[in-house]
Amino acid sequence: MKNRVSAICVMIIFLFSLTACVHKQAQLSKVSEKPRNVIMLIGDGMGPEQIGLLLAYARQAPDSVIVDRKTSFDRIIEQGGVMGISMTNAYNVLVTDSAASASQLASGQYAGSEMIGLDKDGNPVETVVEKAIKAGKSTGLITDTRVTHATPAGFAAHQPHRDMENQIAEDMLNAGPDVMFGGGLRYWIPMGANDKTSAVRKELEEMTQGSVKIKSKRKDERNLLTEAQQKGYALAFNKSQMERADGKVLGLFAYSALPDGIEVTRTKEDSNRTIPTLKEMSSKALDILSKNEKGFFLMIEAGLIDWAAHYNDTGLMLHEMMSLNDTLNYVLDWAKDRDDTLIVVTADHTTGGFGLSYTGKNIPGPKSLSGKSFKDRKFAPGYNFGDPGVLDRIYNQELSYGSIFYNKFDALPKEEQTPASLAKLVNQYTRFPITDEQAARVLATEDNPIYVEGHGYLGNKTVPKLTVKDEFFVYQTDDNRQNLLALEVAGAQSVVWNTGTHTATPVIIFTKGSIKAMSPFGKILHHTQVGQNLIDAVLNE
Ligand code: MG
Ligand code: ZN
Repeated sequence: MKNRVSAICVMIIFLFSLTACVHKQAQLSKVSEKPRNVIMLIGDGMGPEQIGLLLAYARQAPDSVIVDRKTSFDRIIEQGGVMGISMTNAYNVLVTDSAASASQLASGQYAGSEMIGLDKDGNPVETVVEKAIKAGKSTGLITDTRVTHATPAGFAAHQPHRDMENQIAEDMLNAGPDVMFGGGLRYWIPMGANDKTSAVRKELEEMTQGSVKIKSKRKDERNLLTEAQQKGYALAFNKSQMERADGKVLGLFAYSALPDGIEVTRTKEDSNRTIPTLKEMSSKALDILSKNEKGFFLMIEAGLIDWAAHYNDTGLMLHEMMSLNDTLNYVLDWAKDRDDTLIVVTADHTTGGFGLSYTGKNIPGPKSLSGKSFKDRKFAPGYNFGDPGVLDRIYNQELSYGSIFYNKFDALPKEEQTPASLAKLVNQYTRFPITDEQAARVLATEDNPIYVEGHGYLGNKTVPKLTVKDEFFVYQTDDNRQNLLALEVAGAQSVVWNTGTHTATPVIIFTKGSIKAMSPFGKILHHTQVGQNLIDAVLNE
């Protein structure tokens, strides 16, 4: 309940501050023309909660690595930016998925759940990318998930379901944005590539220089890479190929998603790294797109925030937020001395129902305070309101839960896959140790009601099917070991996770640009309106 109240307070403060902001800016600068360039950053699943974690880490973690404790969100507002909030729901439902949300953002019209680039009735709708191309602008779509995944797909494809990634790849190629960077090579190469002796396999191995795992998910022999070349695309499969490329570029740097945020943090200064970061892809795209006199539209997605939140992996989620933060900082630097560029930063929805939260566990002992009112008594709050040092421990996680389970635990011989081995791995790679008994609960495969002391909610695990057991805890996948681990460490992390899926909490929109371009976004909106604003900003009359 307290969380709700504080969320409402935060929103009220936003509304006041954005009104003041618009007013102040309006006095400072004259109404200007439409922006030449529009750069949109989407943090998938990046609700106010996720931004709140980054801000708490920046401001409160004793050893925060964020320079001057200032995030890119702080900078965008300092530079005269404006905030608004937006509801994200898809047509006729309370909550959205990423496909419908991207479609709504890209088209300005309501979409049905899980649809790609369609209206609520299932008709294809022209997206902002397609409109920009018609208007002679350059366009780009970047993601750290797959190029054909829901968010970028919603901007350039039209399919009844987000899972149709083979068809989505074909659509995206037909739409023809100048730059497409991300992962998901598996939807672009012919089925025949799975035969290790085939000529196409050899050709692909040469092309990719061993940078990407070669395995196709296609059900046909179409080679979309060759088709892309025929349409004038240069191809890139690693960082150096990307850096050398020019003109239209299709960059597919992974079999599925790009490396997770913890790995990005660990390797970002490594000169031998072959996979580009979100920031590096964005930098290259800006070099290419900014050559067009008529301007460009670029959508950059930090898509793995959502994945981390689905797994309730707090440390990973913080690192994914850091990746977005680095990228947005780069974009802000790029646009610093330009008055022709509108930057729009938002999320497609909120994921996880996350919050820093106080508990009744490990209540700190009484302390003396120098203040007058504590002359005759000790300072002894009745709860553990959370030690800011927890934020450093969250940041210092060395592997994502996914890597711990899939790359370490599952790689052990079957007989060694015991609770004791799991506890050992968790205690090696995270700063929140668990006992063998806790590890046993995480690994249990039968119906397994779990009560977490001090948290008051029940979680259930049933494998192998997706289960919705109670209104508090909804697991997304058939393997919820990660969510169960999250539940075991939540108290020690001073966090709560309410779900393994999305919530309808409105998301924040940050914009930076001319007053005229920003002000339509500084309101309480729905994402269909954000989409209309976007189209309006991109199209010159
Ligand atoms: Mg996404
Ligand atoms: Zn999601």
